[in-house]
Amino acid sequence: MLKEIIDKFYLDRQKDRQQNHFYITDAGKCPRSVFFKFKKAPRKEMEANILRLFDHGDHIHKLIMNSLLSSKDIHVVSSEVKIPPQELVSGRADAVISDGKELYVLDIKSMNSMVFKALAEPKGENINQLQLYLYYFKIPKGILLYVNKDNQNLKEFLIDYDQAKAEHLINEFDSLKKKIDTDIVPSRIYGYPDDWQCRYCQFKEVCSIGESGDMSWQVLKEEMEGKNQNIC
Ligand code: SF4
Repeated sequence: MLKEIIDKFYLDRQKDRQQNHFYITDAGKCPRSVFFKFKKAPRKEMEANILRLFDHGDHIHKLIMNSLLSSKDIHVVSSEVKIPPQELVSGRADAVISDGKELYVLDIKSMNSMVFKALAEPKGENINQLQLYLYYFKIPKGILLYVNKDNQNLKEFLIDYDQAKAEHLINEFDSLKKKIDTDIVPSRIYGYPDDWQCRYCQFKEVCSIGESGDMSWQVLKEEMEGKNQNIC
């Protein structure tokens, strides 16, 4: 009984989510999958236990922040800091901290033991997100702090601001925004279908119907409808 009630709570939360602007977490992601999110293309819904795992990640972030807030060696200038409002992208860094000399943007990521063990350097997608925080906050240094969800071990990486990378990511958002506004579905990513993003992609089925390069969203929708009729 409780399982059904709790599952429903999580599944209802993800229904009818409309995306109108980019999130920092979209940085460096497959542009086609971000396009599909904006257009509310049919997708494989996430299972309730995966959604609960995201909540668990938030809980771990709070535990880490509690220890930093009690520390005398680090000053938490602000936590859950939203980037300055503008039309293109929104996001919220876990914290801005200071060691008394310099400011750092802190981004906390949690993962299972297997991924944590293999982590010799920070993940590219996490660096992308941090670079955008550094760009918007005008802070030259950031820290990626990884937490092993299974045993609470930590790994940290200091990241310097890379202006060229941040501007490249903003330009990518700009060009994707143009495609969204003009209904042009972006190309599949290089590495399709074996890339890890494809393996976990909720839009795999819609993506497979389309062409590999840029294409009209209208044409893809017609192809989707044709395929559904053939199935019926
Ligand atoms: S299956 Fe791969 S290429 Fe297609 S939308 Fe998903 S991530 Fe992008």
